[in-house]
Amino acid sequence: MQLLDGKSLSKKIELTIADEVKEFKVSSGVVPGLAVMLVGQDPASAAYVGMKKKACDRVGFYSVTHEMPEDISQETIENTISMMNNNPSIDGILIQLPLPPQIDETKILELVAPNKDVDGFHPFNVGRLTTGLDGFVPCTPLGVMELFKEYDIDLKGKNCVVVGASNIVGKPMAALLLNADATVEICHIFTDDLKKHTLDADILLVGVGAINLITDDMVKQDVIIIDIGINRADNGKLVGDVDFKNVSNKCSYITPVPGGVGPMTIAMLLKNTLKAAKAHAKSRI
Ligand code: NAD
Repeated sequence: MQLLDGKSLSKKIELTIADEVKEFKVSSGVVPGLAVMLVGQDPASAAYVGMKKKACDRVGFYSVTHEMPEDISQETIENTISMMNNNPSIDGILIQLPLPPQIDETKILELVAPNKDVDGFHPFNVGRLTTGLDGFVPCTPLGVMELFKEYDIDLKGKNCVVVGASNIVGKPMAALLLNADATVEICHIFTDDLKKHTLDADILLVGVGAINLITDDMVKQDVIIIDIGINRADNGKLVGDVDFKNVSNKCSYITPVPGGVGPMTIAMLLKNTLKAAKAHAKSRI
């Protein structure tokens, strides 16, 4: 069994991005900028935003966080997005999810300018992804694809089973795998007999948010496992969706939690923001 080490790969990617940012600043005079909107006091969301800000600092981006109270109105959020859309020093906009229940999340995500949508959640970018066109791809599945590339894992014709079908993780993951010529199955909460599907997987990708959802009797020998889930166990430790202790013995490769997909997500946010900054600089010439 070999670990797919997202922690070290993300560090390597960050160093490359930091070098590219230096060159880009010299050639264009532009500092890439990321604006983050954080609504409410959710500690996990605040921690993620903090990590993203630190990563921006490490690679030399400008970043700004708009912190807003839990009882914010739809109109105020919409006005802030318009301001960010029109601000030339902002190349990427990230709305930290979830938003409070009084807010129409779909409408908010649709308001982000598609050329600043570094999270890849706007229907314009979702459409480009599903048709195999260049655009912004959601950071978590994009990070998984980088892990496959780094470890020379060929996807063509492989049976890939994606468990979890959210717009952020499962659906874009499945689209990327399909674009890479894999055979893709998507399972979700209403899937009957999950084990029947997971046993078929050459590559099993799990993003659900359920501790020990995948046990060793549910996978075949030498499976490759990507554990995207992040859960807090009773002892306070972060764990994924896979029973790592027992399942890892059967795997050829597996991502650890933490240190697998999580750090790759942040690295891809940086990558997408630099991509946006380069595109904006070109359109200004
Ligand atoms: P979500 O709640 O939006 O979606 C969960 C999906 O899992 C749904 O499609 C649901 O149908 C499916 N599901 C729920 N229970 C199931 C079950 N018993 N069997 C099969 N499918 C089931 O969640 P999300 O935002 O997609 O996040 C999923 C997990 O991924 C969470 O643990 C989250 O913390 C983690 N996550 C990690 C990263 C990262 O960077 N590693 C990024 C985003 C999300």
